[in-house]
Amino acid sequence: MAEGLRLAASRHRDIDLDPSEFGAGFRIVPNQDDQTLLLDVYLYDTLSGGAGYADLAARNIEEILQQTLALLEQCPSHCEASCESCLRHYHNQYLKDRLDRNLGAELLRYALDGTLPEEKTPEAQANLLRNLRRLLELEGFNCESPATIDETTVPFVVGHSDRQVLVGLRPALLTPTWRDHSFGRLQAGTSTVVLNEFILGRNLPDEHQMVRGVVLGKQ
Ligand SMILES: [Zn+2]
Repeated sequence: MAEGLRLAASRHRDIDLDPSEFGAGFRIVPNQDDQTLLLDVYLYDTLSGGAGYADLAARNIEEILQQTLALLEQCPSHCEASCESCLRHYHNQYLKDRLDRNLGAELLRYALDGTLPEEKTPEAQANLLRNLRRLLELEGFNCESPATIDETTVPFVVGHSDRQVLVGLRPALLTPTWRDHSFGRLQAGTSTVVLNEFILGRNLPDEHQMVRGVVLGKQ
């Protein structure tokens, strides 16, 4: 989100600079009033003493935030996380593996108007779960993705002997207690695992072990 902000600010029609003129970052600070945490996302002039561009950006911040959102949500190459068509450029090469435009967009939408991220379609979840499926198939588990159970589409179903586990994904920003997934009504008597989209992408081995444990009845 900070990198998107930096790019959008540098491209604003009243600013129009190389993105290296700006630095951007974030920090998490305690909110003195109510024990919650605040996320600060900031922009600054890289020139020592300041060139005044960050002030100019501040005066146009509403517009720049909308342009940041568009930049994050609409990659011309429709990439999965980030690419040279959207967020990546020469000056942020060192960050490229950490940039996730969809996650940044979800966070910015929430910051702008409180919109919570939505669950992806079962097909989109099945696609993101494909590597997990491959690992489980190699171990001989029965896998189906997506699967239809009682007329409800479930992103991924893993089975072993007479046991069946329903697997889905939740948007990364939602809490682990979120249980509003579309196949929730099937939950009675069935094991359900709802994985965090971001963690699945970053730490497949742990998520694999966890799902495997549930299928084998160890968790
Ligand atoms: Zn892209």
